[in-house]
Amino acid sequence: MLRTHTCGELRMKHAESSVTLCGWVSRVRDKGGMLWIDLRDRYGITQLMAEEGQTAPELLQALRSLGREFVVQAEGTVVKRYAPNDKMPTGDIEIRVERINLLNPSKLPPFLVDDETDGGDDLRMQYRYIDLRRQPVRSKLELRHRMAQEVRRYLDERAFLEVETPVLIKSTPEGARDFVVPSRLHNGEFYALPQSPQTFKQLLMVGGFDRYFQIVKCFRDEDLRADRQPEFTQIDCEMSFVEREDILQTFEGLLLHLLKTIKGVELPPLPRLSFHEAMMRYGNDKPDIRFGMELVHLKGYGHDHTSGVDFGVFDTAERVVGIPLSGGAEYTRKQLDELTEWVKRPQIGMKGMVWMRVEADGSLKSSVDKFYNTDRLQSWREAAQLQAGDLLLLVAGSDSLTMKAASALRLELGERLGLRRADEFQALWVVDFPLLEWDEESARWMAMHHPFTSPIPEHIDLLTQSPGAVLANAYDLVLNGNEVGGGSIRIHDRSLQAQLFEALGFSPEEANQKFGFLLNAFEFGAPPHGGIALGFDRLCALMGGSESIRDFIAFPKNNAGRDVMIDAPGPIDAQQRRELGL
Ligand code: ASP
Repeated sequence: MLRTHTCGELRMKHAESSVTLCGWVSRVRDKGGMLWIDLRDRYGITQLMAEEGQTAPELLQALRSLGREFVVQAEGTVVKRYAPNDKMPTGDIEIRVERINLLNPSKLPPFLVDDETDGGDDLRMQYRYIDLRRQPVRSKLELRHRMAQEVRRYLDERAFLEVETPVLIKSTPEGARDFVVPSRLHNGEFYALPQSPQTFKQLLMVGGFDRYFQIVKCFRDEDLRADRQPEFTQIDCEMSFVEREDILQTFEGLLLHLLKTIKGVELPPLPRLSFHEAMMRYGNDKPDIRFGMELVHLKGYGHDHTSGVDFGVFDTAERVVGIPLSGGAEYTRKQLDELTEWVKRPQIGMKGMVWMRVEADGSLKSSVDKFYNTDRLQSWREAAQLQAGDLLLLVAGSDSLTMKAASALRLELGERLGLRRADEFQALWVVDFPLLEWDEESARWMAMHHPFTSPIPEHIDLLTQSPGAVLANAYDLVLNGNEVGGGSIRIHDRSLQAQLFEALGFSPEEANQKFGFLLNAFEFGAPPHGGIALGFDRLCALMGGSESIRDFIAFPKNNAGRDVMIDAPGPIDAQQRRELGL
């Protein structure tokens, strides 16, 4: 080894020992008579020191010529510092340098390699290998490593086998577009990169593997959205001879295990909400339950507290949805106007916002007093269970737009009130999703999860008469308002699978051409099975208290799907094209 210790490990107990360290020059401070160098590696920073009169002149000269990010090997004696630095784990000691060996010089780095850097996003991505030297970046990847180890430990202890599935496959529809790879040996034909190992993990169950997992790259060619990566990592799992309850227990256990070992947080058993209830209470199938402020339905879900007074906006609305704000009666006109502007932004798309507040004396005041008398407003107050000093904000319009707006407004208010703290964790299961959703564009039913998801047993017969009413035996795991996992009990019966393909508008020939291998496998003793996949990048980001998954990926793509460091995607040359038949 070129070193005896790392830059993070020396303490007072090492005083007077001779050591050799290797690392990058982080900072040189030359005070004339004294010279200090911060030497950095993955483990920390150790201060090197030299002194006029004590240190040989050639050595001083060599130390003075070192620049930022030079890689050096330094030999010396551990000594107690005159002025200890209690902010650094190695702050009690320094190394009196006796020999320095320049291993490699460095060009001036394009940005400061410091916890706080002056480098913008693009520059840091272009020089990601330099950015990786920064402690905040490294610690996120260390957290990812520990998470992966804990996932493996937990699943291994429960008899799950880690199996690799192929990356060059043929297209499996999971709702996104495939990345495709042209074949040289079979010109005109293409592999697809897996959107997930879905069919392979099911075939592993047919193969008797019983409990499978894989921490696996998946690829989806989706339209760009902030914080989407075209390649991402899943903790992909499947189990045989199980019912939904077994899977919920097993993977709830995994999430709680990770929260406990990584964050030291213990959660009680997770609540469960049906899709219907989640939508009704939060306007959202991945509700953030770190705070309340549940939606109040003044019109819709069987309520009508608004009709009959000729207030056109509410009369023509499919829904009128309120968000109660405890203590919100203090909001000033200006704050209310600002929130009104917020819901009118194109992303939210509301035409306006109505408010009602309960004054300290219990009287009611609203922005629609002209239309609604005190009795009517009183019925709103009761529906929303408001106390004196509370505020109710109302949005109205078409069904889906209003629910989306109400959900977004609730989250925004929660954010502004500091109720969505990154260091507080709340998770839940959302279950009983509809199996199918109607796609206006292609005028056909689409699988809400994927086409291998089983209906709940009681609904199998509904599949032909009323497909929209069928509930899926599917579940999502939600953490702090983010979907961190989803899965289902699968179909393992050939004829039911064929029936579902038919409901999705595949002719028997198409179904055979695309999924013949799976339908065939179901004829050779497929066990009942089900599984789940957790989004590993997102899970790491949430545990690391960050909104961005990019920070938790060593070499991420930017928001335009480009790797700006290696400059991909890029063209290929004519020869390559010819070989590929393109
Ligand atoms: N393959 C599914 C997905 O990627 C997860 C599952 O059903 O297990 O969302």
